[in-house]
Amino acid sequence: MDRLKKRIKADGVAIGTEILKVDSFLNHQIDVELFEAIGGEFRRRFSDVAGKVDKIVTVEASGIAVACFVASYFGYPPVVFAKKAKPNTMTDDSYSAEVRSFTKGTVSNIMIAKKFLNEGEGVLIIDDFLAHGLAAQGLASLVKQAGGKVLGVGIVIEKSFQGGGEKLREAGLRVESLAVVEKIEDGNIIFA
Ligand code: 5GP
Repeated sequence: MDRLKKRIKADGVAIGTEILKVDSFLNHQIDVELFEAIGGEFRRRFSDVAGKVDKIVTVEASGIAVACFVASYFGYPPVVFAKKAKPNTMTDDSYSAEVRSFTKGTVSNIMIAKKFLNEGEGVLIIDDFLAHGLAAQGLASLVKQAGGKVLGVGIVIEKSFQGGGEKLREAGLRVESLAVVEKIEDGNIIFA
């Protein structure tokens, strides 16, 4: 998606060779018009499964806004976001999966209440970044625990050099990434 790549080039900040900071339009301040276009692009890429999307699943926090715009292009299915810490209000039974974060150096459990995922549902997984693939893998695990079917994984920015995309594709998941960063070198963001 050229518009997204241009925006990453213009406003993205490389932190070392591993991390991309895009807080001016994706992770802190949100460019709503760009998100609208991102939703439309995912609709185009997943048009063949559009009739089968019962739910959109993401993980808090940055995935939520993206997922809502995607939902608006798929007839407004519910967006369910996995929580990273179990809140006191979450008394229901839940599915959980362990996710390691390389950006934060932490291991956490993500969880979704069982009542929001059902057997036989078609699910599109959406997230802002794909790095080592553990967040997406965790989300796919939650859907599978419920007996749902992952129709695809939609990612705004994939950093292909961290191998997550390859791992997910090898595991048989369909991954659509709108911008693929091949490497970050001397502060330069290089696309595949
Ligand atoms: P993974 O589980 O694929 O290693 O990492 C994906 C998650 O880590 C995403 O949900 C995202 O929140 C975060 N993440 C990974 N790499 C980056 C990055 O370069 N920049 C930002 N802002 N977040 C990242």
